Amino acid sequence: MLISIVVPCFNEEEIVDRFHARVTDELALLEGELGHEFELVYVDDGSRDGTLERLDHLAAVDPRARYVSFSRNFGKEAAMLAGLQYAKGDAVVIMDADLQHPPELVRRMLALHEEGYEQVIARRTRKGDRVTRTLAARAYYRLINRLIDVELVDGVGDFRLLSRRAVDAVLGLAEYNRFSKGIFAWVGFRSTTFEYENAVREQGRSKWSFGKLLNYGLDGMLSFNNKPLRAALYLGLLLVSLASLYAAWIVVEAMVNGVDSPGYVTLLVAVTALSGVQMVMVGVVGEYVGRIYYEVKRRPHYLVAATDVDRPRGARATT
Ligand code: UDP
Ligand code: MG
Repeated sequence: MLISIVVPCFNEEEIVDRFHARVTDELALLEGELGHEFELVYVDDGSRDGTLERLDHLAAVDPRARYVSFSRNFGKEAAMLAGLQYAKGDAVVIMDADLQHPPELVRRMLALHEEGYEQVIARRTRKGDRVTRTLAARAYYRLINRLIDVELVDGVGDFRLLSRRAVDAVLGLAEYNRFSKGIFAWVGFRSTTFEYENAVREQGRSKWSFGKLLNYGLDGMLSFNNKPLRAALYLGLLLVSLASLYAAWIVVEAMVNGVDSPGYVTLLVAVTALSGVQMVMVGVVGEYVGRIYYEVKRRPHYLVAATDVDRPRGARATT
């Protein structure tokens, strides 16, 4: 069996060499024991440091290493997609370049894959995370699982093994807005999860700011369902019914007691509350329209500026 390891890299010059050394050490053991062959597909996501030079060097000295380099930073989702497209393996493992995904776990993944699992998912514990982050994550997953149709699990990221069948299924989803956590869950197949202890990043910084996380979270909620639209509809209907009841009550009251003017506060509150609600609704609709706009443009997910490999199977020239 050929196993591909896909590694998205963005500004990882300090660590790619060490990553490569650690992984190939581990793979050498596995090659000996299991007789699998391995390839490493590095995706340089438009790094602005020396990552590309490092990868070029690795590919020159190690025939198992290949790389694709983007014309600019397209994001980790695009980098993973490219990696999956370029990978030729019968199974593919996706790993971060920062050694937060321990290479020793590949052995366990392969063992589980051997047992017939087509997705082997590594779930990290939140040990060492800040309490606020842990609580926020817990709340987020509770909310999102109520909203969307596939089940997402806290701590489950992109560190996983996919069978060839699962990879092809993922590649078959051509959507522009890619929310991998959801896509992997949507694809399904026989899956299993195991836990591993969270490791702190050894070098460089995490690319996730709070703002990025917030946007990512919102993407997740909106990519996988139309329930927010449905909720907007229900809320609108509820408000209309309440308003009609209130209007009816005012008319009756005016008929019984005659008209008197003081109504400022009510008016003001009603106007502001309603316009606020309307803004939100328009925002929700706008989000979907924006998404449709991006989808219909059919732009490629990334552009390749340099690579040491042939075109990926079945991909268009630009992707
Ligand atoms: N990454 C990428 N493109 C980006 C941001 C990140 O390819 O725009 C890669 C990065 O090089 C790393 C992985 O995605 O290999 C995870 O990134 P990071 O460690 O910053 O995220 P965290 O571990 O904090 O979730
Ligand atoms: Mg990391």
